[in-house]
Amino acid sequence: MRTKTVGVLALQGDVREHVQTLNKLGVDVIEVKTPAELSRVDALVIPGGESTTISKLSEIFGMFDPIRQAIANGLPVLGTCAGLIMLGDIADPASGQKSFGGLDVTVVRNAFGNQNDSFEADLSVTGIQGSVHAAFIRAPIVQRVGEGVEIISKLPDGRIVGVKQGKAIGISFHPEVTGETRIHQLLIDLI
Ligand code: GLN
Repeated sequence: MRTKTVGVLALQGDVREHVQTLNKLGVDVIEVKTPAELSRVDALVIPGGESTTISKLSEIFGMFDPIRQAIANGLPVLGTCAGLIMLGDIADPASGQKSFGGLDVTVVRNAFGNQNDSFEADLSVTGIQGSVHAAFIRAPIVQRVGEGVEIISKLPDGRIVGVKQGKAIGISFHPEVTGETRIHQLLIDLI
């Protein structure tokens, strides 16, 4: 069987950490900046970073519609943090900020406020044995979940931080900065 190719959207954000994580999983990894690169991938990671910037740059680079269309056509996709925001409906968008869609959820940006804007937690995630050590960095929260969306992870207080719908996975946290590879494996398993 052909080696699977996983792309990391490389407009802004912690692209390198995702590439390093995927490199441990036996797939070919490419950084995706153009529609031609997008057309080569079997799955796409949308990294954490700043969703307003990813939104703007994807329009400037002519990537917004190709990505939206590829996700609508069923390309497996994993969005972490800002990447989750880019897959959902945004409750509090910055002016002109748009998202790709893929998950029928509403996401609140920077939901943990200033006092608690970065923290780590051990979570359980559906489909993964044992706990997942997760870093939250100015993280979003999923406020509304539509029908057909599976909740795959919550904080101990019940707030939703992981969702899956069809071939799209969105998580509020950053597995790629804690050495965690199993969330990326869930994406590869969707190919
Ligand atoms: N707060 C950022 C945003 O709104 C997301 C932060 C992150 O990806 N670590 O896009």
